Amino acid sequence: MDSLNALIGVETPLEVVASTLRAFAEGVGASAVGAYQVFCSDETECTCSDALDRQFVARLLPDLKPGRCGAFHTVNLGARYEWGAVRVAEEHFATPAACEGFKFLLVKVNAHAAVQPTADGWEYGWLQRYGKESACCGALAGLFEGSLLPAIVELREMFAFGGLNRLGMLADPRLVEPRYRALYTAIVSAQLQSMRVARDIQEFRPASATVFLIVPCVTLNRPGPDSEIVVGQYGIDYTSTKADTRYAGLGNDPTGYRIRYDADRARIVDEQWCPDGRRA
Ligand SMILES: [Zn+2]
Repeated sequence: MDSLNALIGVETPLEVVASTLRAFAEGVGASAVGAYQVFCSDETECTCSDALDRQFVARLLPDLKPGRCGAFHTVNLGARYEWGAVRVAEEHFATPAACEGFKFLLVKVNAHAAVQPTADGWEYGWLQRYGKESACCGALAGLFEGSLLPAIVELREMFAFGGLNRLGMLADPRLVEPRYRALYTAIVSAQLQSMRVARDIQEFRPASATVFLIVPCVTLNRPGPDSEIVVGQYGIDYTSTKADTRYAGLGNDPTGYRIRYDADRARIVDEQWCPDGRRA
């Protein structure tokens, strides 16, 4: 738990995040491990998905075919959690081995934002794609462009969860510096989508005893190797008849975020952060 908590808010290489998650899974004493990843359709997300496959899926999951393991996936515009999907994933990984004890099910939810160096620091939200400037994440950028695509409408509803006008805050340059808008939008989105996963889990009974770890993350699509910010962690112990849920990490009110840089790597601090975990 401590090694994962140490990554929260800190820009970290993809392989380090994935191997930290593997070490976490190996330490919980589960009799089987499963994985479910939610990420955006954008092809830039292949690097993050590949890192999880190499470091976590290939080493811990049961063989789907001889020598081949696979995570359960939801891939769509803006990395929206599809209600009910975690129930299907949980049922798939309720293997005979899982039923001998309890299983560990990782749910990793990645939003993403490109980052570029500029003359006066770092700027988020666009990259050079195949020789031209391109929004990244384009789906999250659509939130501020009046897009009426069904995916964007659904994302917009989630950003208003609990009656908080997060998009208004993110669009207000007095509250959020415009060059950080895309990053903060991605953090908020990953946090909110992970919260939906947690709520879904709380409303069903798993097929076998399970410890769930839901990890909202933001992939940073950089000019060089990509990196990642872990936003937080929901731990849900569902090894008895009732789900016990705790959350530690960044909140989903973007006005609480502050950004610092250590050797060109971002660090997000948040006045809403509760490092010891709170019931959720
Ligand atoms: Zn995207």
